[in-house]
Amino acid sequence: MKKTILLFLAVIALTIGGGIGGHYLHEYLRNRPTCPEEDSSQFVTLTDAVPDAILEIRYFSTYNFVGTRIDGYLEPTALLTRQAADSLRAVSDDLKALGYRLKIYDAYRPQRAVDHFVRWAENVPDTLMRQFFYPDLDKSVLFDQEYICAKSGHTRGSTVDLTLFDMRTEKELDMGGTFDWFGPESHPDFCGDPETQAFTGDNAKSPAGRSITPEQFCNRMILREAMLRHGFKPFPTEWWHFCLKDEPFPDTYFNFPVRQL
Ligand SMILES: [Zn+2]
Repeated sequence: MKKTILLFLAVIALTIGGGIGGHYLHEYLRNRPTCPEEDSSQFVTLTDAVPDAILEIRYFSTYNFVGTRIDGYLEPTALLTRQAADSLRAVSDDLKALGYRLKIYDAYRPQRAVDHFVRWAENVPDTLMRQFFYPDLDKSVLFDQEYICAKSGHTRGSTVDLTLFDMRTEKELDMGGTFDWFGPESHPDFCGDPETQAFTGDNAKSPAGRSITPEQFCNRMILREAMLRHGFKPFPTEWWHFCLKDEPFPDTYFNFPVRQL
């Protein structure tokens, strides 16, 4: 009988204790300080801010230079800081008046995705997608030539990779090269001077003697000019990559995954 009472009391004590403990654990989890890298509160879903944008999120798909879905891309969507998204909306409105829509390949990129690129770059024999993205280069030089870096501006949340979609032809505007083409043909100054927007046809940097036409160069300049007009800065090696000049988080490399906010 005594044993039964003791057991009964022990069960009561454990139940009450567990309840109180659970309560405190719940409060702790609710109020724990969020690591700044995981805080998405200053970000927006790009298409909420720029409803006309077309998304083709290559790192969610397998059509990218790695050939698999990239870590951290849980949904085929794009996120940006509010400030970058607002500026991009202004770009979109400008270009819409000229008959173009923005087509987005990538925006915010979590650090875990960049880490995935680095692991891929270190695995030199894996050249599954070489014919599409780097046929003229040996994979072993990608890291040295900074095509792949351990840190990316995209991870700070105010950088976007994009091209233009022509509403008249219902096709992408011909930029004379694809997004994520590793090579000097992707440089904004390939075959022309982006400062003066003059086409020169100078293709000396291309290892395979590739070239772009005056029209393709001009198309790259339409995108560049609109982006620069609304506070973005260009990147010297990729015509499709732009970062907000006054980015709100210049020192934070975020790591929350890409999915609708
Ligand atoms: Zn980029």
